[in-house]
Amino acid sequence: MKRTLCILLSLVLLCSAFGAVPAGAQTQSVTIEPIDLHREDFIRGMDVSSVLSLERSGVKYYTADGAEKDLFRILADNGVNYIRVRVWNDPFDASGNGYGGGNNDVAAAAQIGARAAACGMKLLVDFHYSDFWADPGKQKAPKAWSGMSLSQKLNAVRDFTTASLQTIRGAGADIGMVQIGNETSNGLVGEDSWWNMSQLYNAGSAAVRAFDPSILVAIHFTNPEKTAYMKSLADFLSDYHVDYDVFALSYYPYWHGSLSNLTEVLDYVAVNHHKLTMVAETSYAYTLFDSDGHPNTVSAYANNTGSDLLWDFTPQGQADEVRAVMNAVNNVSDNAGLGVFYWEGAWITVGDTTGLSGSAYDSRLAANKALWERDGSGWAASYCGEYDPDDGGKWYGGCAVDNQAFFASDGKALPSLQVFAQVAATSYLLGDTDGDGEVTVIDATMLQRHLAQVKSTGFIEAVADVDSDSDITILDATLIKRWVAGLFCPYPIAKKRIVPSPGS
Ligand code: CA
Repeated sequence: MKRTLCILLSLVLLCSAFGAVPAGAQTQSVTIEPIDLHREDFIRGMDVSSVLSLERSGVKYYTADGAEKDLFRILADNGVNYIRVRVWNDPFDASGNGYGGGNNDVAAAAQIGARAAACGMKLLVDFHYSDFWADPGKQKAPKAWSGMSLSQKLNAVRDFTTASLQTIRGAGADIGMVQIGNETSNGLVGEDSWWNMSQLYNAGSAAVRAFDPSILVAIHFTNPEKTAYMKSLADFLSDYHVDYDVFALSYYPYWHGSLSNLTEVLDYVAVNHHKLTMVAETSYAYTLFDSDGHPNTVSAYANNTGSDLLWDFTPQGQADEVRAVMNAVNNVSDNAGLGVFYWEGAWITVGDTTGLSGSAYDSRLAANKALWERDGSGWAASYCGEYDPDDGGKWYGGCAVDNQAFFASDGKALPSLQVFAQVAATSYLLGDTDGDGEVTVIDATMLQRHLAQVKSTGFIEAVADVDSDSDITILDATLIKRWVAGLFCPYPIAKKRIVPSPGS
């Protein structure tokens, strides 16, 4: 224990000595291969539920070039096409103090949904049907519903769902999907029997159907590494006649098994139960350093090793993880992989502690604590203790995932944010100079015409330099002809995919 403490202490000192580590990540460039997405509307989504609290605490967001902009504009410009927001019934105490974690009530969801819609993004409304965090460890009924019988809870779920959707759409949100509960593997609204849970799911689902039948209904579980249990949950939903469209899972690679296992579970649901599937939450650390004084879930000696962690803790590794999870969902049979949401990709520090030590660190941390309490910009505020005494009430504080955001501690977009656009970018095969999807002798001819400066529209210069000598020459045309003729060619013609850079 002492030894671990020593190592941790020296790491803290190291952090201070090289304080610019997270900010420096901004300048690294990121390369992502596109995915042949089977659905045109493939969800490249992000949960940014904490944004209003963060803005109240003074957080600002900037493009990679340093221009201050609305977070939703930056996300949309980088290819994000869907926003997810959690809804708690009443995350406030009797004096109006917020429980924290974004203080995400219906009014907050309405604001977030409206801002997303203004930038062309749809909204997934994630009802926890609780006053604070609902996950596999806790599914506590809202204060106002405690002591209710099951039939009273069914009415409460129905009424709350309807009223909330009316408010959220009324504010201008484009609601595309609704989650009936959050990570409900072990319960929902304080009930844990399948008979009761199935009725609660159906109460929420019926409210959504009545409100607007075009909205997708999702049921959300976690722990996909429990393969057999996950499959049995899908079987339960069928056996108990739960009316839903989308089987959604959380996938955090630190704990949730391999990507092939994830695809296997989703595939089982698609093939056997004919449902759509998706990943409702994933994330990955771009650095192991903390920037707000609240320990991070993933840090040196904590959740940073394991056989399923295939990527570096860098912006490139973060982008690679997102691409890999999207690819795993895209691989689900019958085009039933709907897409992926990244969890809280904009939850950054309210006051950068990077590089500080001694009293400077202490006073910054004290200032951060005051903001977390006042604005709900940390994961939990002390006020939640009345409702969540054993977890939030004990361990309240700041952000445990600031090193998994797509924004550095100064609010500037990381290069990894481009993954959301890059996975969907149009790519061409090396040598396919006319871009028709195959390499033929016409591509060689096209290249020769280009060299002869004969104007031809549609010539894709980016795939013409077959031998990568940074020059397009007659040799490149010859190599394409040799490859078409089946002769030996040492270059990855028709194998490598290339994304032309904008303007080329
Ligand atoms: Ca932190």
